Amino acid sequence: MFNSLSDRLTATFKNLRGKGRLTEADVDATVREIRRALLDADVAVPVVREFTARVRERALGAEVSGALNPSQQIVKIVNEELVEILGGETRRIRLAKTGPTIIMLAGLQGAGKTTLAGKLAKWLKAQGHSPLLVACDLQRPNAVTQLQVVGQRAGVPVFAPHPGATSELEHPAGDPVAVARAGVEEARQKLHDVVIVDTAGRLGVDAEMMEQASEIRRAIVPNEVLFVIDAMIGQDAVNTAVAFDEGVNFTGIVLSKLDGDARGGAALSVASVTGKPVMFASTGEGVDDFELFHPDRMASRILD
Ligand code: GDP
Repeated sequence: MFNSLSDRLTATFKNLRGKGRLTEADVDATVREIRRALLDADVAVPVVREFTARVRERALGAEVSGALNPSQQIVKIVNEELVEILGGETRRIRLAKTGPTIIMLAGLQGAGKTTLAGKLAKWLKAQGHSPLLVACDLQRPNAVTQLQVVGQRAGVPVFAPHPGATSELEHPAGDPVAVARAGVEEARQKLHDVVIVDTAGRLGVDAEMMEQASEIRRAIVPNEVLFVIDAMIGQDAVNTAVAFDEGVNFTGIVLSKLDGDARGGAALSVASVTGKPVMFASTGEGVDDFELFHPDRMASRILD
């Protein structure tokens, strides 16, 4: 991901090498190239506009520093702006002070939530936590089984509804809100310190799904709501993210399928438009293909 954006930006900055001082025309030409590179990487138009305006303003206003030549100075500005868009500092999971830390996953169907649930569970377990996975995706016929398979791979137990159960205590089938509540209760009783709640998605944003996700959020009051987004979806990413942010007010973003040939624009757009930090990156189908997201490292990789 970002390879083409990275190549384009590097080439742009190369043109500035050897220049003693940048004229306004130099800055404008550079900003124009940055704009084209971002648009070609699928970054949303308003995000590109804001980003380039900031880079231009800072580049024109920058003091000529003895330590940096003009090209290095622009690279530094672009780097800082990229880090800012991606969430600034590396953002770690906020753990609950008492009782289990509740992490809810939200996103479209196919975004990679269930896969992520397993990755996150395994990662947290390796850090000494004792997670419980809760299967609240009762929409897709195989979702519960899929979470059970993922849980097995991660070596983490799964709380799932019992088909045909009627009372809330018996893991009620068919009611994701009740399952979420019962799952959190189970974690409390069995002393799990983290609960990861997988929820249902649809192929597109849908009022009923959003209402359900929002109801689950109100019922379990999670410490983190992670919005999982497929980095491959390009320009649609912004509308989807805004809809989910309105619906569930997520606290962090997980970019999935970063191993694909996505151009990376979705990542920058979603973080910028919602102002929420990117927290994790999912980079494959395996349970270990997962990493904490470091905005500074990603920015450096783009500008490498
Ligand atoms: P959900 O509907 O949001 O729960 O999505 P799933 O977790 O079922 O993932 C949908 C598909 O994407 C599955 O075939 C996963 O194996 C695949 N998938 C999930 N995450 C990744 C990833 O990071 N990289 C790749 N290449 N595939 C992924």
